[in-house]
Amino acid sequence: MAQFGVIGLGRFGARTSLELLELGHEVIGVDADEKLVEELADQLTHSAICDVTDEKALNELDLSNCDVVLVAIGEDLQASLLCVLHLKTIGVETIWAKATSKSHHQILSKLGVSRIIHPEEEMGIRVAQALNYPMVNEYMSLGHNWFCVEIALGENLEGKTLNDILPDNTDNFHLLLLKKRDEVTVTPGPETTIEGHETLVMAGSLKALKSIAPKLVEES
Ligand code: ATP
Repeated sequence: MAQFGVIGLGRFGARTSLELLELGHEVIGVDADEKLVEELADQLTHSAICDVTDEKALNELDLSNCDVVLVAIGEDLQASLLCVLHLKTIGVETIWAKATSKSHHQILSKLGVSRIIHPEEEMGIRVAQALNYPMVNEYMSLGHNWFCVEIALGENLEGKTLNDILPDNTDNFHLLLLKKRDEVTVTPGPETTIEGHETLVMAGSLKALKSIAPKLVEES
């Protein structure tokens, strides 16, 4: 269990906080808006109404023990930057922050923010990828055009083996998991028979995955 600070409890900050709590972590939630803090106070581990541009007030929140503090303030550039500056002064080691523009990103980067998030842009990319590859449930970019993807197998493939549907050349992709509800087969072999209602998790080059994915879902 880790302890996180989330500053700014708008939709992004609130949703992140609730998910972290669901995952079993402690969350200190902070916002200047009394109503937003009150709405979440029962669920958060600790909460505070605070204008985070005030260094003294921020210092009193004792966020320096947090594993990560997420600054989820987007629109008010001055508040976001001052907050990061104060967190650094207080001694918070790892800060993640939301950015709403290129210049916002540049300054956060100069201030030593560990990870800068662009929620709308990142979500836009994910939605475009989902529209382009509707068969892919989840994906993660591994860099250098390699991806890890989860694909729901077509019901028409029931009774076939993985060998029947996947190409012989496995240089550019690897089968990682075959999942059926909570049953997981790690690195399934080529003779594994598809039973139905399964998902396959693979890692591979974009080129390899693009040629394989349609075979996993198309009607035969
Ligand atoms: P979202 O897109 O997450 O819904 P939003 O549209 O409300 O956010 P943001 O400017 O990103 O707009 O603000 C996020 C939250 O940060 C708001 O709830 C706001 O009250 C809070 N906030 C802004 N400035 C401060 C500040 N100086 N101190 C504390 N909280 C602040």
